[in-house]
Amino acid sequence: MQKIPVIQDPTPPFATDGKFHVRLTEGRFQNLRRLTTWPLIALFFGLAWVQIDGQPFLFFSFEQRRITLFGSALSWHDLPLMAGLMIAGATLLFFMAVAWGRVWCGFACPQSIWTWLFIRIEQLAEGRATERSKSDHLPLRGIRLLRRVIKHLLWIFLAVLTAATFTGYFVPIREIVADGVNLEMSATLVGWLAIMAALTYANAGLVREKICLHACPYSRFQSVMFDDNTLTVSYDARRGEPRANRRNADENSGDCVDCGICVQVCPTGIDIRNGLQAACIDCAACIDACDTVMDRIDRPRGLIRFASERQLEGNQSPFMRPRLAGYAAVALCAISAVIYGFTDTKSLLVEVRRDRSALFTQLDQNTVCNNYRVKVEGFASGQELIRVSLSASPQFTLNGPEIIKLSDNNSAWLPYRICGSNVDETNAKLAFVFTGNGISTSKETTFLSKLI
Ligand code: SF4
Ligand code: SF4
Repeated sequence: MQKIPVIQDPTPPFATDGKFHVRLTEGRFQNLRRLTTWPLIALFFGLAWVQIDGQPFLFFSFEQRRITLFGSALSWHDLPLMAGLMIAGATLLFFMAVAWGRVWCGFACPQSIWTWLFIRIEQLAEGRATERSKSDHLPLRGIRLLRRVIKHLLWIFLAVLTAATFTGYFVPIREIVADGVNLEMSATLVGWLAIMAALTYANAGLVREKICLHACPYSRFQSVMFDDNTLTVSYDARRGEPRANRRNADENSGDCVDCGICVQVCPTGIDIRNGLQAACIDCAACIDACDTVMDRIDRPRGLIRFASERQLEGNQSPFMRPRLAGYAAVALCAISAVIYGFTDTKSLLVEVRRDRSALFTQLDQNTVCNNYRVKVEGFASGQELIRVSLSASPQFTLNGPEIIKLSDNNSAWLPYRICGSNVDETNAKLAFVFTGNGISTSKETTFLSKLI
């Protein structure tokens, strides 16, 4: 099996000064990309605003130490659920990597999606790639300057919108907007938004493919996961070589007319005809570009296509294989565990500790009292008042607040005293009952009435 080479400087041959402009192309894979990216963009910008029964759909509150996932408030007791979600996500990613290489990078990774958005804005403001390349060598004034300024203003607008939405998953988005409109934002929030916007602007507008090439660990992972049955974007050298432009072509020439369009559309600037490369993000732009060329010269499509090494050698390539089946099984188990976990989340957590410093207090000949400390944590919205009662025989009485008001961080610690008359058992069992907002839970504890 061929190892994927890591190319550190894939500057394309047409980028003489080291800078290149990606040429946008159209085709079936670009349509597929729209089908995956636009819903993801809509989800990102929309979910921050969605609420279910007053609860945000997706929210991470550091202040309240609470995570809300799919409308369910999770407590720290539900952390294994987060771990399950991560395992499910990772195994699905591994499954995709073994089956189709880096399709995640090409079709769903935020870095790629935002880079494409920024390139589209660039094309809207400054024209197509060839026009932009020419402009780079001309003095920046007049209409060229105006178009450049418009591009940067649009980039900044999108970067700020992205930063505000991302922050909206940690600070209520309605508060951010209201504070912004009323010019009442705290300096911390302004600083955070500025940093996030600057990072978005730099990542998608300036650094772009360098992140995929040098900072993303996934391209290195892919090298390990890849096998000779992995379907990945490949150039069919057996069909394309020897390449020759149409003027010099003869009966021995391959189908590649050496037009270079597959290189010009590549966002990472590589030439896929050099073989598998770690820099390839499987975006399939070169497939669409080459298919257009093949249509024009009346040759079959697919000179560049999703193909495994075995298929390129003319062999059959099975889709399902043991490693893939293993990832699928683990992913299914993790997803099932997460679904089950969501049906078992707790929105009211309670803790009861008996005061062990004084085992019990003898009030009179028949009455004994025990002291307790009670902690209540609420994780559902509107869960502010919790009623406390005792589940025990009438010989026990509860002394302490009957209603607990949860503080701003949704938790409270309170002292209680339970007194019992004529208790025969040394270690009597009783339970605190907590009720609030339609939820009821109890916590069993012991009542000590005499020394053993
Ligand atoms: S687009 Fe197709 S024909 Fe043109 S250089 Fe690339 S592989 Fe060859
Ligand atoms: S080689 Fe093709 S699939 Fe790979 S990154 Fe470049 S354009 Fe995308």
